[in-house]
Amino acid sequence: MPILVQKYGGSSLATSKQISTIAKRIAEKYQQGNKVVVIVSAMGKTTDELIELANSITKDPSPRELDLLLSTGELISCTLMAMAIKSLGFNAISLSGAQAGIQTDTRHGKAKISGINPDRIKNELDKNNIVIIAGFQGVTDEMDTTTLGRGGSDTTAVAIAASLKAKQCEIYTDVDGIYTADPRIVPKAKKLTEIGFNEMLEMASYGAKMNPRSIEMGLAYNIPILVASSFNNKPGTIIKKEEEINMDIHEYRNRVSGITTEKDVAKITLLKIPDKPGITAKVFQPISEANINVDVIVKNTSVNNKTDLTFTVKKSDLNPAINIMEKVVKEFKGSNIISKTNLAKISIIGTGMQDSPGYATKMFNSLATNNINIDMITTSEIRITCIIEELHLKIAAQSLHSEFNLDNNI
Ligand code: ASP
Ligand code: MG
Repeated sequence: MPILVQKYGGSSLATSKQISTIAKRIAEKYQQGNKVVVIVSAMGKTTDELIELANSITKDPSPRELDLLLSTGELISCTLMAMAIKSLGFNAISLSGAQAGIQTDTRHGKAKISGINPDRIKNELDKNNIVIIAGFQGVTDEMDTTTLGRGGSDTTAVAIAASLKAKQCEIYTDVDGIYTADPRIVPKAKKLTEIGFNEMLEMASYGAKMNPRSIEMGLAYNIPILVASSFNNKPGTIIKKEEEINMDIHEYRNRVSGITTEKDVAKITLLKIPDKPGITAKVFQPISEANINVDVIVKNTSVNNKTDLTFTVKKSDLNPAINIMEKVVKEFKGSNIISKTNLAKISIIGTGMQDSPGYATKMFNSLATNNINIDMITTSEIRITCIIEELHLKIAAQSLHSEFNLDNNI
């Protein structure tokens, strides 16, 4: 009997009525002759509410206690789902992360799965149970509960699919699949039938909502991931190995697969800091200790052994980052800090651009034609990102979407 691994996101499970509706979908799959394992996220905004609740008790909740608290969100949804399936007359059992054999390291709030022992899951499947597993959580060697970082249920699902050697992992959510751009920004955005793991990794880190670790896991264990809607039966998008994409390879290699956009970018520039070994480390060490993610970094050429260093952070991290920088800059005589908000990131992503400089020129020209100034540029092998003014984001995204032939059916 084939093993089917499905994950349902929090927005698909926001109410008890929704849980009952999804329970029927799951039961149907079982009736069709599959062994069914389902990973669930917490209902609706439960995780946000639990974080708020903790913050209303203390500004600095203990990471261990916070993890145990957050894990209850997924326990609620998995137990209710098991009850809903049983009420339809099928056998079901819910398992916490620990009961499902999910081992992690000890980094509370961002733990990594270190191993899975799927024996209990297999046992329950052999007893003809539909197995419902709490996503986003695991347990350390010391039996402390950990969580995997926001959106971590995707990672749980792919890891479980890998450990059960399932053919693929199905992720059901509130969108129909992966789009060539955010349809709210680019109305002509199209749903992709297939996308490669590496492209999706860039998409997930640069705008499209999916937990990047789940994609890394899919790539590492070669588990294709289907992303589809939990509200309808439309086909969705399959994320799989680049070599296995069902498309003329030449066409695939030449395409840009998607445009990603991200608002709320802020930048900080440190003016006239000393240009000598160790300074950059001195600047970024306290930033990373404060858990602030730095994105694009540009260091200028030095004049009289002084240089300017610019980097971007999320708008919400701007104030804490400036506070930290003020302390750092105090040590350097004559240095100054300036900052800017209302910036956005726009990226083109596609394996096609590897070793092909033409893509960058095309992107810059398209922005220039629309009179959009590029503030900063960063690239990977398969991505080019520009920082621009947020007010130009829509126009930029729409014109790049058409420039790279994504407006037409693909
Ligand atoms: N409930 C967790 C969150 O909201 C995990 C997840 O949804 O995947 O981040
Ligand atoms: Mg969630």
